[in-house]
Amino acid sequence: MFCGVDIGGTNAKVGLVDEAGHLVDHDTVKTGLYKSPADLVLTLAYTILRLAKVNRAKIEGIGVCCPNACAIDGTVANAANLNFKERFSLTELFGTYFPDTPVAVDNDANAATLGEQCYGKAKDLQDFLFVTLGTGVGGGVVCNGKLVYGLNAMAGEIGHIIVEPEGRACGCGRKGCIERYVAAPGAVDTYLEICRENQIEPRADNYRALADLACAGNPQALQTYRNMGRYLGRFLANLACVTAPTHIFLFGGVTKVGDILLEPTRRAFYENLLFCYQDRIKIELSGLMDSKADAAILGAAALAKARK
Ligand SMILES: [Zn+2]
Repeated sequence: MFCGVDIGGTNAKVGLVDEAGHLVDHDTVKTGLYKSPADLVLTLAYTILRLAKVNRAKIEGIGVCCPNACAIDGTVANAANLNFKERFSLTELFGTYFPDTPVAVDNDANAATLGEQCYGKAKDLQDFLFVTLGTGVGGGVVCNGKLVYGLNAMAGEIGHIIVEPEGRACGCGRKGCIERYVAAPGAVDTYLEICRENQIEPRADNYRALADLACAGNPQALQTYRNMGRYLGRFLANLACVTAPTHIFLFGGVTKVGDILLEPTRRAFYENLLFCYQDRIKIELSGLMDSKADAAILGAAALAKARK
């Protein structure tokens, strides 16, 4: 049995995952209640031990995913959503309580990529891209069967690839990054722009309301997704040239509208794809999306399994 821990700004989730990828048991800890990383990890360790005892589980490895976590040394620094800004080592903190259990640490996009490979649709795949579309855009690149880490394990920061020179200002301090056009806040910006151009009173000011409008057939909301699909499809066609994946999996809250986003994305993807890749690369929704288990816990458990 593997234990997956997903540390987010609001909640930290702890789950036990069996060999087949079933979530055996899980619990949630409110991250915001803790003043220091040590206090948080103490509670998480207690939660893991309690779950293991209740389920009579032997834990073979613990995987911890956290925004900004570095896979090489297991440290987290400047995590935007957490209370603690100082650098701390998750490997060391968890190691205090579990000296005989391997502890693997990584960021959430890499962990989810391993989750797809371990428990999702990428089980037998050697080359694929995993793209998360949420409040930002993240990615995991699997090439020749291995997750690509690169310098300081920083590979896969695909959200900050510039697609519009002098485009929208991005949180990274530059302009025109892809996430400003296809992540949730960028989608809302596009919708508001379309409403303004057409002199129509906007009916959504957040992503969830925008998605609901599109599902109800609102023309400006649908136009927003066609615009996003154009950006995303062309972007993915460019990425395909780097590692020649056979599959691209899309994951995250933004993709829950399904074909409303997928169709224009696929159209733009094939329109822009280099001839030698035509008909050879598939774009699909992640297999973790239809799993009943929490995708983040599965990803963290997969991390433990992969690094055992
Ligand atoms: Zn950026």
